[in-house]
Amino acid sequence: MGLFTQLKQKVGDAVKRSVIAHHRRSRAVLFSDTTLRDGEQMPGATLEPEDKVRIALALEEAGIHSIDAGFPASSEKDVEAIQMMVGKVKKPVLTALCRTVKGDVDAADRALAGQPVHKRGVSLFLGTSPLHREHKLNKTKAEILGIIEETVGYAGEKFPIVAFSPEDASRTEKDFLCECYELAIACGATTIGFPDTVGVLTPEKTRDYVRAIQDGTPSVEKALLAVHTHNDYGCAVANTLAGIAEGANVVQCTVNGIGERAGNASLEEVAIALAMNEDQYGRPFKLDVSKLAPLCELVSELTGIPLPPNKPVAGRNVFATEAGIHQDGLLKNPDTYLPFRPEKVGADGIHLVLGRHSGRRAVAHELGRLDLPSDDDTVTRVLDAIKSQPKGAVVDDILLRTWATP
Ligand code: MN
Repeated sequence: MGLFTQLKQKVGDAVKRSVIAHHRRSRAVLFSDTTLRDGEQMPGATLEPEDKVRIALALEEAGIHSIDAGFPASSEKDVEAIQMMVGKVKKPVLTALCRTVKGDVDAADRALAGQPVHKRGVSLFLGTSPLHREHKLNKTKAEILGIIEETVGYAGEKFPIVAFSPEDASRTEKDFLCECYELAIACGATTIGFPDTVGVLTPEKTRDYVRAIQDGTPSVEKALLAVHTHNDYGCAVANTLAGIAEGANVVQCTVNGIGERAGNASLEEVAIALAMNEDQYGRPFKLDVSKLAPLCELVSELTGIPLPPNKPVAGRNVFATEAGIHQDGLLKNPDTYLPFRPEKVGADGIHLVLGRHSGRRAVAHELGRLDLPSDDDTVTRVLDAIKSQPKGAVVDDILLRTWATP
């Protein structure tokens, strides 16, 4: 290596260390989105390159820190999508997924050509658990360490931002896991990922692991620690929050929680839980939560995966109520029966659903909204009509007009 190259590398290393130190000192939670990669692995959620660009731009607008943009070595469509993002998606760091194979790093390098050097990175993964070592890779621990050394070092020559994630980390022996992290950091990893690949953790076990990683990896301060959880036990969001509570710096999530099997930690749920509990977590973050509901709708529309009605943040029922007591309370003050108002997450207003459980006040309110008479007799007549509707019938504005107009 020539003197100039050596000098350049030294300067580069100093810059990297100061960026990491800055993020650690700020105690910020950095949101990393993997909708376009892990999310797209959900059966039926395939996205065209132009759809991916639209989602990436919406994520940028929401203030996302980094985007896992795809897996160039696995598909030409991913390469195409990443190249379309280069030059268009400017603020977030774009990362490409790689196996611990030099050819994958080269493919990522080509796909991200033209992206400013401080906004491009790679995310390498290698199975480390006994299951993966023995049954998938047929490698010893020493061989796994050898691969990490060779490929993370190689990636570091081409990218200033290198994440290393031991696949199936949550079923890997803690001491070996830390050995992998320590080596990866020594070889230039700037982020170490902790993926709960098959979603086996609970919040308590997540905290144990994250603490063990911090205690058992002497160089942990030289890198950022990222958590990546799956929802097989319905714990993905809770586990991500547990990781944050234990000091993780980066959270890898997907919009609407889409992803393999039961999905990933949902970005909007983690974000709103953090935003509403600042007193507990005390961790700043830059995501604009008022962009969340439109983002959820966009991803649902482009993937064709519908939002369940009771989906937190963006489901059509989360600001709707049919129950009379709740409707009365909401009309007096929305905060009586809501954890936060719709505008907080950029959702439409509160919807009063008229049905068998509704009361007079809600009926009068809805009649007033339509400029219809709302005197006692009309309200009684309309309420009787509503209560005689068959189960599941939708009471819409047309029906209300018919009933209210003598
Ligand atoms: Mn995953």
